[in-house]
Amino acid sequence: MRFICDSMLGKLAKYLRILGLDAIYFRPSRKGVETIFEEPYYFFTRRKKSPYQNTVYIKADRVQDQLREIKNIIKPYVDTSRIMMRCIKCNKELEAVEKDKVEPLVPEYVFHTQKQFYICPQCKKVYWSGSHVENMYKWIRELLEL
Ligand SMILES: [Zn+2]
Repeated sequence: MRFICDSMLGKLAKYLRILGLDAIYFRPSRKGVETIFEEPYYFFTRRKKSPYQNTVYIKADRVQDQLREIKNIIKPYVDTSRIMMRCIKCNKELEAVEKDKVEPLVPEYVFHTQKQFYICPQCKKVYWSGSHVENMYKWIRELLEL
């Protein structure tokens, strides 16, 4: 399942990616944009009308409230083993990377205190677990009542 976030919902798209979901930020001007609707999808929008099927109209302003609005839609698609395993910027699934390969790419303290690193195959951003990840897990568990 793909989750397409209309303009004005860029932040929501990022949070859906944190949850491990395939979330696309919709830019109508982008070339080939119609192909994103080829897979089963939900279309999230703040507009009053939408030409797309499976449109969900979002009312809340704050992203936390927006997530609560769509909680029951997204929950069946959240795989807890995939949480925080997607690049927030590119929507690509992260790949495990050997620790010695990331040494020049991460802060020294992080390199020495973390064991497992992941990399985005597209933008090459390196991800690792840390205290922010634990807080995020707590927040996700509360949100989705896992
Ligand atoms: Zn990336």
